Amino acid sequence: MRPEGEWTCKGCASPGVDLFLEVSGIPVNANILHATRKDALGAAKGDVALGFCSECGHIQNARYTPRPVEYTVEYENSLHFSPLFQDYARSLAVGLIERHDLYNKEIVEIGSGKGDFLNLICELGGNRGVGFDPTYIFERDENRDNDRVVFVNEKYSEKNAPSVCDMLVCRHVLEHLSHPKEFMMMIRSVIGERRSMSVYLEVPNADYMLRERKYWDIIYEHASYFTKASVVSLLRACSFEVTELSESFDGQFISIEARPSAAVRSLPDAEAIDGIRAETAAFADRYRIKVVSWNSALREIASNSARAVVWGGGSKGTTFLNILRTGGIEYVVDINPHKHGTFVPVSAQEIVGPGFLAEYRPEIIIVMNPVYIEEIWALVKDMGFKTRLLTA
Ligand SMILES: [Zn+2]
Repeated sequence: MRPEGEWTCKGCASPGVDLFLEVSGIPVNANILHATRKDALGAAKGDVALGFCSECGHIQNARYTPRPVEYTVEYENSLHFSPLFQDYARSLAVGLIERHDLYNKEIVEIGSGKGDFLNLICELGGNRGVGFDPTYIFERDENRDNDRVVFVNEKYSEKNAPSVCDMLVCRHVLEHLSHPKEFMMMIRSVIGERRSMSVYLEVPNADYMLRERKYWDIIYEHASYFTKASVVSLLRACSFEVTELSESFDGQFISIEARPSAAVRSLPDAEAIDGIRAETAAFADRYRIKVVSWNSALREIASNSARAVVWGGGSKGTTFLNILRTGGIEYVVDINPHKHGTFVPVSAQEIVGPGFLAEYRPEIIIVMNPVYIEEIWALVKDMGFKTRLLTA
C-alpha cells in the first residue's frame, strides 16, 4: 500500500502519480558547506523517488519531507561568481525592465538569496526593492549601503508582504516547496485586485532534464521538477494568466511571466503529457547505463592513479559524486571563493579554487555543467599542463 499523500500530485492534487526512478542515499542538503571532512562524511542522507503525474505532467520526489532541509545562512547556492551567469542575470533584468516598464517602480523578490538579482534590477531601472530570504547575509552584500533595496531575513507571507509592488520576482523557489500550489494561492490572495501587477517566475526545467538525461540535476531539496505543462497548469489553477513562457539559460530553466486573472480551468494537453511520459521512461532506462559507465570510468582513473577533478561544487557535483561512490576523485573545483576549503556533503571531497590546479595538474577535468565549458577552458588553458575536459 502506498502511504497516503506521497503520490498526490503537488501541482494539481491528482492522486495518480506513478514512480519512474529511485535514487537512494543522496545528501539531504546538497548546498550546505561542511568545514571539515568529518562533518561532511556525517551529513544527512535521503532518498528520491521520482513520480510522474499523468494529469498535469508534473514530476515530484514522492519521498520528500521538508524537515531535514534547512535554509540557513550556511546555505551556499550563489552562482553570482560566474561571468556567464552574470550575463544571463543582466539580460534577464534588462528584458523584464523593458517589457514591463520597470523604471522607478517597486520590485519584490521572494527567495532573493544573497540579493544579487534584486540589487541588479533595482540599479538598472532605478527601482526600489524588498527581498525576502532567510539565507541573506548583510555583510556579504556589496550594495548594503543602498537604502533603495532592503532585505528581510524571513520567508515571504501574507503578514510581511509589502503593500506596494509592481513586479513580483520568484526564482528557483517553487521547486523547493512541499506545497507549491498553496504558496501560489497565497501570493494570488496577497495580490488581490491589483491586476496590473506582473509576476516573474523561474524554475529548473524538467523537460530539459529529461530530454538531455541530466541525472545530476536530481537533488533531494527539490520536492518538485516542473515541466512547462505542469507550471502553466499550476498557475492557471491559482488564477494567473501566463503571458510569456520560455526556456532560458541554454534550456536549463523555465521562465514564466504572468499576471493575475480570474480563475481558469485548464484542460491538460494530452499530447504534451504523453510526450513527457515517454521521456520519463527513457530517462529511467538510461539511468543505469549512465551510472555503470561512469563508475567504470572512475574505477579506471583510480586504478591508473590518474588525477581527475570535478568542476562545479554545486548541487550537480554533489549528486554526481554521491551517486558514483567508486572513488577516484579527491578534489572539486569551484570559482565561488566562499566554498574553498569546505567539503562536499557525504562523499567528502575538498572544494578548491581554480588556482589549485596549476599545482595539482589534473589529467582529467569532469565538467558538471556544459554551459561553463568555455569559461573553464579560458581559466585552465594557460596553466601549463595538459588536461582533458569531459562533460558529466
Ligand atoms: Zn498533477
